[in-house]
Amino acid sequence: DPRIHGIQTKIRVVPDFPREGIMFQDITTLLLDPKAFKDTIDLFVERYKGKNISVVAGIEARGFIFGPPIALAIGAKFVPLRKPKKLPGEVIKEEYVLEYGSDCLEMHVGAVSAGERALVVDDLIATGGTLRAAMNLLERAGAEVVECACVIELPDLKGRERLNGKPLYVLVESH
Ligand code: 5GP
Repeated sequence: DPRIHGIQTKIRVVPDFPREGIMFQDITTLLLDPKAFKDTIDLFVERYKGKNISVVAGIEARGFIFGPPIALAIGAKFVPLRKPKKLPGEVIKEEYVLEYGSDCLEMHVGAVSAGERALVVDDLIATGGTLRAAMNLLERAGAEVVECACVIELPDLKGRERLNGKPLYVLVESH
């Protein structure tokens, strides 16, 4: 798809952020370009519309940028998966291990019902730990995770292999 190249060129790579040795993929430059941002959303919407998906779950924080426009366009609800102690209601939580330390995602009880078909959205998959935690939350609520969708994959980190065979759709790979 010719739109992919345009999207790729708008992602800025920032060396040594947030730490030395990390090549940070910065999507804020993609958001500055209305055509590339719209193409990004359109590619996901074209893939997921008509697939009977009733839940788009977005991962804090950049999944909150890409998830809601997809949800609105396909007629699904949007469910935020948040870092600890942000959601005011009763939550279920999933901890996951990072390179240094651990992190946690929370989801409101009652946001998703058993049997719902869910799409998980984030900006980027690295090791896959974050998406795995998100999938666990949805599955614990009885939802069926249809697919995970990210703008960028770092395939060298093999995060895809941590998704228990769940399909992952990405627009851009970065090595
Ligand atoms: P993982 O759990 O797959 O190792 O890391 C993915 C999570 O870390 C995502 O929520 C993503 O937003 C964030 N992340 C890690 N590296 C980058 C990066 O280079 N750029 C951006 N935008 N996010 C990153």
